[in-house]
Formats: sequence, structure tokens, C-alpha cells
Amino acid sequence: MTLRPILIHPDPRLKTVADPVPAITDEIRRLADDMLETMYDAPGIGLAAPQIGQMNRLLVMDAAKEGEETARPMVLVNPAVTWSSEARSVYEEGCLSIPEQFAEVERPAEVEVQWLGLDGKTHTERFDGLWATCVQHEIDHLDGRLFIDYLKPMKRQMITRKMVKLKRERARG
Ligand SMILES: [Zn+2]
Repeated sequence: MTLRPILIHPDPRLKTVADPVPAITDEIRRLADDMLETMYDAPGIGLAAPQIGQMNRLLVMDAAKEGEETARPMVLVNPAVTWSSEARSVYEEGCLSIPEQFAEVERPAEVEVQWLGLDGKTHTERFDGLWATCVQHEIDHLDGRLFIDYLKPMKRQMITRKMVKLKRERARG
């Protein structure tokens, strides 16, 4: 397994719609392994392939609460929301591609998601709580959408300016 560098916003790849994965191959399994390792190392609760520059519809997540729930590393290939609740909930979201910036985002409180597993089978599951927020945030990445796209333009521009500065500092080392 290899840790992969995570792209920082703004980056055109984070604004691009990712391509469906045609089949589960060893390459896809390796990519999923690398993404889980990269996510846990960050640490984060979700990571989508475009965040490491792989333009595939694949995401990993584990929103189990540390010390309360057993770790549950999940790999979702070609995920799609097939139902969402009318009830909405607000979570303070962050993103590994937008380090140290957090903002409240309102989304459906519960969603049903269908995806292809690494076992080659179709899975369907309902998610609520933090899991629901996480899976919607990650599927957004596959459509080139970031959580800051839900914020008011002023707030979004402020965060983007901070990220431009951060990237400049990092490039200088
Ligand atoms: Zn994110």
C-alpha cells in the first residue's frame, strides 16, 4: 500500500466529473487500498478518488466513531443516491482537500445508496447521521462538487483565498 498525495483546492481535477469504473480489477483494488491507507493516515473519514487525481467514481469511507463503534472501512464503486429523506440535518463539514476549514452544510438526513463492491456485487444500504453526511460529501466529489459550493459566495471566496495562500506556502516549502 502507498500513501497518495491529496490534492488541495483549488485544482481543476476537484471540479471535474469522474468516470464510471468499468470493472473491478486488481488495479481498482490497489487504488482502494491506497485510498483507505491515505484516508486513515490523514486522518479523515472519507476520501474520493479525484482527491488523489484519479478520475474514477470510487470512494472510501469509515465514519465509525472512534472508541464507540468498530472501524468499518468501506469501498464504494460507482455509488449513486437512490433515495433521500425529506428530513434534513446540518453538520459541520471539513474536507481533506480544504485543510482546517469547516462550515455547516445542510443535507438530507438519510440516504439510500447503491454501489458496486470490490466483490463485484451490487450493494444497497441506508445511511444516517454522520455516515449520511459523509457519503453525500464523497459522492459530490465524484461530480466535481465541494462542500464549500453550498456556502455563500463570500465565505467560499474567503476559504479559496486561504487555500491559494496555503498552496503557495507549501510550494515554497
Ligand atoms: Zn472532501
